[in-house]
Amino acid sequence: MAQKLVVGNWKLNKNFSETELLIKEIVDAAATLPPFVKLGIAPAFPFLHHAIGLVQEHAQIDICAQNVSNHDAGAYTGEVSAEMLASIGLKYCIVGHSERREYFGETNLVIREKVDLLLKNGVTPIVCFGENLTLRTNGSYLSYIIEQLEACLFHLTKEEVSKVIIAYEPIWAIGTGETASPEQAQEVHKSIRNHLFGKYGADVSEQISLLYGGSCKPNNAVSLFSQADIDGGLIGGAALNASDFIQIANSF
Ligand code: PEP
Repeated sequence: MAQKLVVGNWKLNKNFSETELLIKEIVDAAATLPPFVKLGIAPAFPFLHHAIGLVQEHAQIDICAQNVSNHDAGAYTGEVSAEMLASIGLKYCIVGHSERREYFGETNLVIREKVDLLLKNGVTPIVCFGENLTLRTNGSYLSYIIEQLEACLFHLTKEEVSKVIIAYEPIWAIGTGETASPEQAQEVHKSIRNHLFGKYGADVSEQISLLYGGSCKPNNAVSLFSQADIDGGLIGGAALNASDFIQIANSF
Protein backbone atom coordinates (compact mmCIF):
# COMPACT_ATOMS: atom_id res chain seq x y z
CA MET A 1 0.00 0.00 0.00
CA ALA A 2 1.33 3.44 -0.96
CA GLN A 3 2.29 5.94 1.72
CA LYS A 4 -0.19 8.80 2.16
CA LEU A 5 1.77 12.01 1.76
CA VAL A 6 1.06 15.73 1.50
CA VAL A 7 3.92 18.00 0.40
CA GLY A 8 3.91 21.79 0.52
CA ASN A 9 5.88 23.50 -2.26
CA TRP A 10 6.60 27.01 -1.01
CA LYS A 11 8.25 28.12 -4.27
CA LEU A 12 9.92 31.58 -4.13
CA ASN A 13 8.16 32.59 -0.91
CA LYS A 14 9.11 33.19 2.74
CA ASN A 15 12.33 34.66 4.11
CA PHE A 16 14.24 33.13 7.03
CA SER A 17 12.06 34.31 9.91
CA GLU A 18 8.84 33.66 7.97
CA THR A 19 10.06 30.14 7.15
CA GLU A 20 10.81 29.47 10.80
CA LEU A 21 7.41 30.76 11.90
CA LEU A 22 5.40 28.80 9.34
CA ILE A 23 7.25 25.56 10.08
CA LYS A 24 6.60 26.02 13.81
CA GLU A 25 2.91 26.63 13.09
CA ILE A 26 2.75 23.49 10.92
CA VAL A 27 4.51 21.40 13.58
CA ASP A 28 2.01 22.60 16.21
CA ALA A 29 -1.00 22.02 13.96
CA ALA A 30 0.30 18.58 12.96
CA ALA A 31 -0.67 17.24 16.39
CA THR A 32 -4.07 16.44 14.83
CA LEU A 33 -2.65 14.39 11.92
CA PRO A 34 -3.72 10.78 11.58
CA PRO A 35 -0.70 8.53 12.14
CA PHE A 36 -0.72 7.09 8.61
CA VAL A 37 -0.14 10.48 6.90
CA LYS A 38 3.27 12.01 6.29
CA LEU A 39 4.07 15.63 5.48
CA GLY A 40 6.79 17.20 3.39
CA ILE A 41 7.69 20.89 3.51
CA ALA A 42 9.72 22.52 0.72
CA PRO A 43 11.12 25.95 1.68
CA ALA A 44 13.89 27.70 -0.25
CA PHE A 45 17.44 26.30 -0.43
CA PRO A 46 19.11 28.60 2.15
CA PHE A 47 16.74 27.47 4.91
CA LEU A 48 16.71 23.70 4.34
CA HIS A 49 19.29 22.85 6.99
CA HIS A 50 17.60 24.95 9.67
CA ALA A 51 14.20 23.56 8.62
CA ILE A 52 15.43 19.99 9.10
CA GLY A 53 16.38 20.90 12.68
CA LEU A 54 12.91 22.37 13.31
CA VAL A 55 11.09 19.14 12.36
CA GLN A 56 13.63 16.69 13.75
CA GLU A 57 11.45 15.67 16.68
CA HIS A 58 8.39 15.12 14.50
CA ALA A 59 8.45 11.66 12.89
CA GLN A 60 5.67 12.51 10.44
CA ILE A 61 7.29 15.63 8.96
CA ASP A 62 10.26 15.82 6.61
CA ILE A 63 11.90 18.60 4.62
CA CYS A 64 12.00 18.69 0.84
CA ALA A 65 14.06 20.68 -1.68
CA GLN A 66 12.38 22.28 -4.69
CA ASN A 67 15.15 21.50 -7.16
CA VAL A 68 18.60 19.96 -7.58
CA SER A 69 21.38 20.13 -10.16
CA ASN A 70 21.65 17.54 -12.90
CA HIS A 71 25.41 17.66 -12.38
CA ASP A 72 27.36 15.77 -9.76
CA ALA A 73 29.93 18.48 -8.91
CA GLY A 74 32.25 20.98 -10.56
CA ALA A 75 32.11 24.31 -12.38
CA TYR A 76 28.35 24.91 -12.38
CA THR A 77 27.92 28.28 -10.66
CA GLY A 78 24.78 28.61 -8.61
CA GLU A 79 23.86 24.94 -8.63
CA VAL A 80 23.13 22.68 -5.64
CA SER A 81 24.01 19.00 -5.91
CA ALA A 82 22.18 15.91 -4.72
CA GLU A 83 25.21 15.02 -2.63
CA MET A 84 25.00 18.43 -0.88
CA LEU A 85 21.33 17.84 -0.14
CA ALA A 86 22.04 14.35 1.17
CA SER A 87 24.84 15.71 3.38
CA ILE A 88 22.33 17.75 5.44
CA GLY A 89 20.03 14.74 5.85
CA LEU A 90 17.37 15.91 3.39
CA LYS A 91 14.56 13.43 2.71
CA TYR A 92 12.77 14.60 -0.47
CA CYS A 93 13.41 16.72 -3.57
CA ILE A 94 10.84 17.90 -6.14
CA VAL A 95 12.01 17.32 -9.70
CA GLY A 96 10.55 18.43 -13.01
CA HIS A 97 7.94 20.84 -11.70
CA SER A 98 6.19 22.44 -14.66
CA GLU A 99 7.59 25.85 -13.66
CA ARG A 100 11.12 24.43 -13.99
CA ARG A 101 10.24 22.83 -17.30
CA GLU A 102 8.65 26.02 -18.63
CA TYR A 103 10.82 28.85 -17.22
CA PHE A 104 14.16 27.05 -17.00
CA GLY A 105 13.91 24.79 -20.04
CA GLU A 106 14.17 21.50 -18.17
CA THR A 107 13.71 18.55 -20.49
CA ASN A 108 12.81 14.97 -19.69
CA LEU A 109 16.49 14.11 -20.11
CA VAL A 110 17.58 16.69 -17.51
CA ILE A 111 14.88 15.45 -15.15
CA ARG A 112 16.03 11.87 -15.63
CA GLU A 113 19.60 12.89 -14.73
CA LYS A 114 18.34 14.62 -11.59
CA VAL A 115 16.33 11.55 -10.57
CA ASP A 116 19.41 9.36 -11.01
CA LEU A 117 21.62 11.63 -8.90
CA LEU A 118 19.03 11.90 -6.13
CA LEU A 119 18.59 8.12 -5.97
CA LYS A 120 22.34 7.61 -6.00
CA ASN A 121 22.57 9.90 -2.95
CA GLY A 122 19.61 8.49 -1.05
CA VAL A 123 17.24 11.46 -1.50
CA THR A 124 13.66 10.61 -2.55
CA PRO A 125 12.67 12.30 -5.83
CA ILE A 126 9.13 13.65 -6.17
CA VAL A 127 8.83 13.70 -9.96
CA CYS A 128 6.18 15.91 -11.57
CA PHE A 129 4.25 15.18 -14.75
CA GLY A 130 1.31 16.97 -16.34
CA GLU A 131 -0.24 18.39 -19.46
CA ASN A 132 -1.04 21.94 -20.50
CA LEU A 133 -4.49 23.18 -21.46
CA THR A 134 -4.01 22.52 -25.18
CA LEU A 135 -3.18 18.86 -24.58
CA ARG A 136 -6.09 18.54 -22.15
CA THR A 137 -8.49 20.10 -24.65
CA ASN A 138 -7.35 18.13 -27.69
CA GLY A 139 -7.54 14.89 -25.74
CA SER A 140 -3.89 13.81 -26.07
CA TYR A 141 -3.03 14.31 -22.39
CA LEU A 142 -2.78 10.65 -21.39
CA SER A 143 -0.29 9.72 -24.09
CA TYR A 144 1.73 12.86 -23.28
CA ILE A 145 1.93 12.04 -19.57
CA ILE A 146 2.87 8.41 -20.27
CA GLU A 147 5.61 9.65 -22.59
CA GLN A 148 6.97 11.89 -19.78
CA LEU A 149 6.76 8.99 -17.32
CA GLU A 150 8.65 6.60 -19.59
CA ALA A 151 11.30 9.18 -20.52
CA CYS A 152 12.04 10.19 -16.93
CA LEU A 153 11.66 6.92 -15.03
CA PHE A 154 11.47 3.78 -17.13
CA HIS A 155 15.24 3.29 -17.28
CA LEU A 156 15.20 2.60 -13.52
CA THR A 157 15.29 -0.86 -11.98
CA LYS A 158 12.38 -2.12 -9.90
CA GLU A 159 14.28 -1.39 -6.71
CA GLU A 160 15.13 2.16 -7.83
CA VAL A 161 11.69 3.13 -9.11
CA SER A 162 10.02 1.94 -5.92
CA LYS A 163 11.89 4.75 -4.11
CA VAL A 164 10.33 7.42 -6.34
CA ILE A 165 7.20 9.49 -5.65
CA ILE A 166 5.14 10.72 -8.60
CA ALA A 167 3.07 13.90 -8.74
CA TYR A 168 0.45 14.45 -11.43
CA GLU A 169 0.12 18.21 -11.87
CA PRO A 170 -2.04 19.42 -14.74
CA ILE A 171 -0.43 22.74 -15.69
CA TRP A 172 -3.82 24.34 -16.34
CA ALA A 173 -4.71 23.76 -12.67
CA ILE A 174 -1.51 25.09 -11.05
CA GLY A 175 -2.03 28.39 -9.28
CA THR A 176 -5.12 29.09 -11.37
CA GLY A 177 -7.84 28.16 -8.88
CA GLU A 178 -8.99 25.66 -11.52
CA THR A 179 -8.79 22.12 -10.10
CA ALA A 180 -8.95 18.84 -12.00
CA SER A 181 -12.18 17.16 -10.95
CA PRO A 182 -11.66 14.07 -8.79
CA GLU A 183 -12.66 11.95 -11.81
CA GLN A 184 -10.21 13.74 -14.14
CA ALA A 185 -7.37 13.32 -11.63
CA GLN A 186 -8.28 9.68 -10.95
CA GLU A 187 -8.30 8.86 -14.67
CA VAL A 188 -4.69 10.04 -15.01
CA HIS A 189 -3.53 8.47 -11.74
CA LYS A 190 -5.07 5.13 -12.71
CA SER A 191 -3.41 5.27 -16.09
CA ILE A 192 -0.01 6.01 -14.48
CA ARG A 193 -0.54 3.17 -11.98
CA ASN A 194 -1.53 0.75 -14.81
CA HIS A 195 1.50 1.72 -16.80
CA LEU A 196 3.79 1.17 -13.81
CA PHE A 197 2.09 -2.21 -13.33
CA GLY A 198 2.78 -3.14 -16.96
CA LYS A 199 6.46 -2.30 -16.66
CA TYR A 200 7.28 -3.21 -13.05
CA GLY A 201 4.47 -5.44 -11.72
CA ALA A 202 1.99 -5.16 -8.86
CA ASP A 203 4.41 -4.84 -5.92
CA VAL A 204 5.96 -1.70 -7.33
CA SER A 205 2.86 -0.10 -8.86
CA GLU A 206 0.84 -0.45 -5.65
CA GLN A 207 3.65 0.84 -3.49
CA ILE A 208 4.49 4.09 -5.34
CA SER A 209 2.74 7.17 -3.93
CA LEU A 210 0.89 9.14 -6.61
CA LEU A 211 0.23 12.74 -5.53
CA TYR A 212 -2.16 15.18 -7.16
CA GLY A 213 -1.22 18.85 -7.50
CA GLY A 214 -3.11 21.81 -8.93
CA SER A 215 -5.18 24.17 -6.76
CA CYS A 216 -5.73 21.51 -4.12
CA LYS A 217 -7.40 23.32 -1.20
CA PRO A 218 -9.16 22.42 2.05
CA ASN A 219 -12.54 22.49 0.24
CA ASN A 220 -11.64 19.96 -2.49
CA ALA A 221 -9.02 17.74 -0.84
CA VAL A 222 -11.54 15.26 0.60
CA SER A 223 -13.05 14.46 -2.80
CA LEU A 224 -9.63 14.24 -4.47
CA PHE A 225 -8.04 12.09 -1.75
CA SER A 226 -10.98 9.69 -1.71
CA GLN A 227 -10.10 8.53 -5.24
CA ALA A 228 -8.61 5.04 -5.37
CA ASP A 229 -5.29 6.02 -6.95
CA ILE A 230 -4.67 9.40 -5.29
CA ASP A 231 -2.29 8.95 -2.36
CA GLY A 232 -1.90 12.60 -1.42
CA GLY A 233 -1.10 16.03 -2.74
CA LEU A 234 1.60 18.42 -3.86
CA ILE A 235 0.30 21.73 -2.60
CA GLY A 236 1.37 25.21 -3.71
CA GLY A 237 -0.65 28.24 -2.57
CA ALA A 238 -2.54 26.50 0.25
CA ALA A 239 0.72 25.24 1.77
CA LEU A 240 1.64 28.80 2.78
CA ASN A 241 -1.02 28.76 5.49
CA ALA A 242 -0.49 26.23 8.30
CA SER A 243 -4.14 25.59 9.06
CA ASP A 244 -5.10 25.14 5.36
CA PHE A 245 -2.14 22.83 4.83
CA ILE A 246 -2.99 20.68 7.84
CA GLN A 247 -6.67 20.66 6.93
CA ILE A 248 -5.68 19.26 3.53
CA ALA A 249 -3.48 16.63 5.20
CA ASN A 250 -6.41 15.69 7.44
CA SER A 251 -8.62 15.04 4.39
CA PHE A 252 -7.95 11.31 3.96
C1 PEP B 1 2.26 23.48 -7.47
O1 PEP B 1 2.85 24.46 -7.89
O2 PEP B 1 2.86 22.40 -7.36
C2 PEP B 1 0.86 23.62 -7.11
C3 PEP B 1 0.14 22.53 -7.07
O3 PEP B 1 0.40 24.90 -6.91
P1 PEP B 1 -1.09 25.32 -6.48
O4 PEP B 1 -1.53 24.38 -5.37
O5 PEP B 1 -0.96 26.72 -6.00
O6 PEP B 1 -1.93 25.16 -7.68
